[in-house]
Amino acid sequence: MNKFEQLGLNAEIVNAVSDMGFEAPSDVQEKAIPILLQEETDLVALAQTGTGKTAAFGFPLLQKINADSKHTQGLILSPTRELCLQITNEIQNYAKYIKGLKTVAIYGGSSISDQARAIKKGAQVIVATPGRMKDMVSRGMIDISKIDYCILDEADEMLNMGFYEDITDILSHTPKDKKTWLFSATMPKEVSTIAKKFMNNPVEITVGTKNEGTKNVSHEYYVVAGRDRYNGLKRLADSNPDIFSVIFCRTKRDTQKVAERLIEDGYNAAAIHGDLSQNQRDLVMKSFRSRQIQMLVATDVAARGIDVDDITHVINYQLPDEIETYTHRSGRTGRAGKSGVSMVIVTKSEMRKIKSIERIIKQSFERKDIPSGEEICQ
Ligand code: ADP
Ligand code: MG
Repeated sequence: MNKFEQLGLNAEIVNAVSDMGFEAPSDVQEKAIPILLQEETDLVALAQTGTGKTAAFGFPLLQKINADSKHTQGLILSPTRELCLQITNEIQNYAKYIKGLKTVAIYGGSSISDQARAIKKGAQVIVATPGRMKDMVSRGMIDISKIDYCILDEADEMLNMGFYEDITDILSHTPKDKKTWLFSATMPKEVSTIAKKFMNNPVEITVGTKNEGTKNVSHEYYVVAGRDRYNGLKRLADSNPDIFSVIFCRTKRDTQKVAERLIEDGYNAAAIHGDLSQNQRDLVMKSFRSRQIQMLVATDVAARGIDVDDITHVINYQLPDEIETYTHRSGRTGRAGKSGVSMVIVTKSEMRKIKSIERIIKQSFERKDIPSGEEICQ
């Protein structure tokens, strides 16, 4: 028996898992899957980004759903459109041997009538962002009155982004006896409030320590004069020719500006931020995933939860306003056991923020110098 079968997963799922090349369950999968398969219970699971939470709820959900019945049985709420598409895609991969099982993504910025049509044809699993979901439920386009499972994925991010009321509204349309599974990287007050209010005596599991997710990541900072920020970025890119990175800026405007300058200067770069249409964002993500783009310049909101394999560098072109956000940024690299580098470009006056981040991530930064032109040529 392989390790996934030992958790109680059936052949359809185990075969899909082996097609995906997963050899052994991750910690959160090992803990959550047997509980969710064997018990009808609410669950709160805390695990850092990159620990395989999607499969931890996806596998048991798919195994419990009745694919012979077309009505919606599972609802997964996730904070952003990108994540919503990513989860849908993963779930569809897991479900490829389950006959008749349909998963539909529901998110803003794209045709509501197309989505309503897809739902009408029957979808046992819906993966949705809260805003669009609430809208479609209240307009009677989606019926979630008979769901068995509701999953709140990246609950901390959803609440950070102000979705509390939308989530409450959506939950009010679900049956009382459904089970709720909440997955989150952190447990701020808002998340425990949701858990207390909407969950019934949940089983709690925690994987690793709070910041274990960054342990494969080394952290470096580079001090520049404010006017040299962009040149510093270029030098960092030049000294790492195989770079495959996400570059974080604080605002949509800066994100767009930095990407445009990089493109003018001949780099394979693109911007992703909320002012782009959903179509444009999908295209950018597709080119990034296929590595036509080496440098994705992003706002925090647009990059949230994005899981792209083998990102080598996260570059903080500017530090975030909230230093906790740094953990989410650096978590884009060093995933699934790989190593990665998180670089921060700071001016002298911003250096004190490095100390506060070190306290949060419980790791120290290495101070390095921006490589000079000569070093790059060598
Ligand atoms: P999280 O939601 O915790 O951030 P994801 O579910 O997005 O993590 O998974 C992170 C990456 O790890 C994905 O690329 C996923 O395909 C991969 N992954 C998940 N479980 C396993 C496993 N058991 N073995 C190998 N890779 C895995
Ligand atoms: Mg996730």
